[in-house]
Amino acid sequence: MTYEELQSLDLEHIWHPCSQMKDYESFPPIIIERGEGVWLYDEQGKRYLDAVSSWWVNLFGHTNPRLSNALAEQAQKLEHVIFSNFTHKPAIYLAKKLVALTPEGLEKVFFADNGSSAIEVALKMSFQYRAQTGQPKKKRFLALTGAYHGETLGALSVGGVDLYNEVYAPLLLNVVRAQGPDCFRCPFEESPETCNASCTQYVEEQLKEHADTISAAIIEPLIQAAAGMKMYPPVYIKKLRALCDEYDVHFIADEVAVGFGRTGTLFACEQAGITPDFLCLSKGITGGYLPLSAVLTTNEVYNAFYDDYGTMKAFLHSHSYSGNPLAIRVAEEVLDIFEDEQVLVQLESKQKILKELAHEAFAHLPYVGEYRQTGFVGAIELVADKKTKAPFQSEERIGYQIYQRALEKGLLIRPLGNIIYFMPPYVISEDEMTWMVDTTKEVITQFFKERGK
Ligand SMILES: *Cc1c(COP(=O)(O)O)cnc(C)c1O
Repeated sequence: MTYEELQSLDLEHIWHPCSQMKDYESFPPIIIERGEGVWLYDEQGKRYLDAVSSWWVNLFGHTNPRLSNALAEQAQKLEHVIFSNFTHKPAIYLAKKLVALTPEGLEKVFFADNGSSAIEVALKMSFQYRAQTGQPKKKRFLALTGAYHGETLGALSVGGVDLYNEVYAPLLLNVVRAQGPDCFRCPFEESPETCNASCTQYVEEQLKEHADTISAAIIEPLIQAAAGMKMYPPVYIKKLRALCDEYDVHFIADEVAVGFGRTGTLFACEQAGITPDFLCLSKGITGGYLPLSAVLTTNEVYNAFYDDYGTMKAFLHSHSYSGNPLAIRVAEEVLDIFEDEQVLVQLESKQKILKELAHEAFAHLPYVGEYRQTGFVGAIELVADKKTKAPFQSEERIGYQIYQRALEKGLLIRPLGNIIYFMPPYVISEDEMTWMVDTTKEVITQFFKERGK
């Protein structure tokens, strides 16, 4: 079959995620044959630098030899086993490592198989905890504007990005919504250096009013990723933890996107020096190989479910692929790579290089509101007016058009509205970073020139 025939056959049968399928008429899917390091190669031999780590999951490059070998070896031994009443060495070792590496006080690990289901698990555990500890009125969740926690109905309910929620509103939980941090357009006009997270007062106001009905608050620590890589300082997390303690509300840290080194530390919560009551992990957990997620929690939560069978206090949540040995064995290898190859140390210098390159390239461009970076996530916010920070209208699809042009040049930077971002695999080289930044600059400059503004 020719490349074009394969594309038509794809569109005959496949409904792609997060897509208006009509767009594919003029912009058909790119058929990837193989990947190596930061590069993806299509069936025609053209290559693309994967600057978004294939939706934020890849850490150590495509077809990483260590991860591929670990997977192949595990596949020869045990591909899957029921995880109720059965267990296996990879799961035992991974759980032990996760407990050791995550903030102190998280002692128990519950495995699920994607980010959204990890959120569902945390919400259900918190809710059931309240029911079983004599606080049945605490039934609701507090979440932030701009939050993204996944697409299943519970996870969507706590999400605060209208684009994803609006049509499902009648199906969603009644969530207490507090205004989230917005450093680019800070209502308190604070600078990152002096910020004392005054904006946590929005959360405090809601807690004051509703805490007796709130079971847990959920946030994405340091970066509200899907909202457009909105970044905020650790002090916000610290203050939120204190507020949760004060008002007896669980703190759910959704580190599905930011966990495993993305923000410069293994987990983002470390930078605030806090322990959440629930820590949700996925995406990078297998370095982009297989779907897997984990929810870590405290003994205090665990013990509220621990009793004689007849009391019916058990947590009955399960997934067919809970504790899948293939995914878990790869996740274990991911943690070994972090240790053996001193990944976080190496990442520190790469972060610096990216920051310098990107500031140099973008800060002075006319339609760039700002370039911001946390750890190894860099974001360019495009604005219609640099002074007023007025955004482009979403109908203009500015980011999308730039994305298409970048693809022509072999660069994959899938935007979030008007935000173009870099979230490359950690194995990207300095030369590749330079090319990524230069190409992005070239495409943005060319785009606005042709747009005639
Ligand atoms: C991607 C994401 C999720 C959902 O994970 P899926 O595996 O796509 O279901 C949840 N929370 C955050 C912060 C995410 O970025």
